[in-house]
Amino acid sequence: MTSRLEHYENQYRELLGELQGLGFISPGTLVLRETSCGNPRCRCMGDPPSFHGPYYQWSTKVNNKTVSRRLSADEAELFQDWIANRGELQRIIAEMQEVSAKAGELLLGQIGNPGKT
Ligand SMILES: [Zn+2]
Repeated sequence: MTSRLEHYENQYRELLGELQGLGFISPGTLVLRETSCGNPRCRCMGDPPSFHGPYYQWSTKVNNKTVSRRLSADEAELFQDWIANRGELQRIIAEMQEVSAKAGELLLGQIGNPGKT
């Protein structure tokens, strides 16, 4: 029983170690967009239209409102990393939770069930 618990403790420590190397994180999503500016004399309103862009746009929800930001290709690369890091963080947290639940069951089993004395 103890060795199983140790196994979970090791797994948990490994996950904590992964957290240490994690870079900055960002919520939201990144898309490549083309737009029209609305100026009737602009090429983007032509037939066929030649849209502006493509440019990168990052967006996320803040208090249920969508916030967007236009990005250069270099900036988009940073955001791509940050968004990927956040996904990684969420995977690590999910695994920590899973390991904790298994370890928790063991620990609860060790102290016995107070309802069945
Ligand atoms: Zn235009």
